[in-house]
Parts: sequence; C-alpha cells; structure tokens
Amino acid sequence: MSFSLEQFLQALEPTHTKLVAVSKTHTPEEILVLYRQGQRDFGENRVQELVPKWEEMPKDIRWHAIGHLQTNKVKYIASFIYMIHSVDSLKLLQEIDKEAGKAGRLIPCLLQMHIAEEETKFGLDRQELLDLLEAPEFSALKYVEVRGLMGMATFTENEDQVRKEFRQLHTLFEEVKTRFFAGSDSFRELSMGMSSDYHIAMEEGSTMVRVGSLLFGPRHN
Ligand SMILES: *Cc1c(COP(=O)(O)O)cnc(C)c1O
Repeated sequence: MSFSLEQFLQALEPTHTKLVAVSKTHTPEEILVLYRQGQRDFGENRVQELVPKWEEMPKDIRWHAIGHLQTNKVKYIASFIYMIHSVDSLKLLQEIDKEAGKAGRLIPCLLQMHIAEEETKFGLDRQELLDLLEAPEFSALKYVEVRGLMGMATFTENEDQVRKEFRQLHTLFEEVKTRFFAGSDSFRELSMGMSSDYHIAMEEGSTMVRVGSLLFGPRHN
C-alpha cells in the first residue's frame, strides 16, 4: 500500500514530526512528483547516487545523507549536504569537520545509535556515544553541529520490541541533551521511524521520520 504525500503529512501533523522522503533508487522524475507537491527534504544513502541527483535537481531541495558514510566520500557532499544522519565515529565527525571547513560552512549531523537486535546495523552503543561526547577532540570541532540522534529499530513484526527500542533511544536523547547540551537548543532532533514503524516512532517522540517505500512504492534495484 502507498500513501499520498498529503495523507502522510496529515498523519504527522499532530506531533509536528518532519518528513524526510527517502528517494534512494528512485528517479529524478519520481522525486519531482513529490517536489511539485511541496516536499523539499529528501534522503539518500549512497554518495554515488546523491551527487548526480543534487547536480541535476532543483537547488532548494534539502538533501539528507542517511546511510553509512565512508570518510573518503565526505568531500563529495560537504558543499551541499543539508544534514548527515548516520555519523557513527569520531573519525568520521573529524573528517566532516575538515571538509565543512574547506567548504566554508557548518554541517548539521546526527549521531547514529545501534538500537536494534541485529548485529548488522551500524551505530554507536551508549558507552561509545558518551566517550565520543567527552573526548577533547569532540570539543575541538568547529564546523559540525551535532543536532541529535538517529536510530533504526529491529526489523520485526513485534511492535512491543520496536517501541521499546525507540523509547530507549528517546530516553538516551534526553539524558545526553541534559548532560552535554544544556542551555543550547541545537541538540533537538531525534531521527527515527521508517515505512514500517513510523507510527510507533512518532508516538515515542520522533522529530523526523525517514520514509521511502510507503511514499514511492517499492525500490528499483
Ligand atoms: C532506506 C532507508 C529508509 C527508508 O526505508 P523505507 O522502509 O523504504 O521507508 C530509512 N532510513 C534509512 C537509514 C534507510 O536506509
């Protein structure tokens, strides 16, 4: 089943959750259908796909990098990327800082947390997150702004499991906000929820859902 953009935005309205339309594998023509209806935030997970789309598409699109990012690819997106959701190491953050500096801009980033049971999903665990935020190298960063956390729940039919993982991420978000970002409102985004679990994520305090197949239909591979 697919949702229209309008239906989707209505569903998100009560909690003011923002929508990142995940356009990976979809063509510029398909993306423009949503663009013409007013959607401006789009998410991609591969740099090779993101760069040509950015080059050829309207410049007021806000491109979000949502997939695992290799340090050697940061330079290709630093000049235009609106937000990077998938930062999972200090080393990557330092590379983004370096390239953002060269591009003369500040790049908003989210730290990706490993909340799922699957071994395969990327992300930091709680201790790694705290170590990163406490590192002197972290305080030295000038051109990245950590705006919040991102996470992907276990791929399961078990809604209680998914809810529990989102709730834990929200709790951690609040804890980190109090402990490391008190007195600043820059740390304010919680990116969680995809096609299969966005409704649970919204209920658990998501500020941004990343939804692909529900809007675009099945991915082309
Ligand atoms: C592909 C992807 C999504 C969107 O997935 P859907 O199930 O199509 O909504 C969200 N987040 C990340 C990180 C993705 O890679």
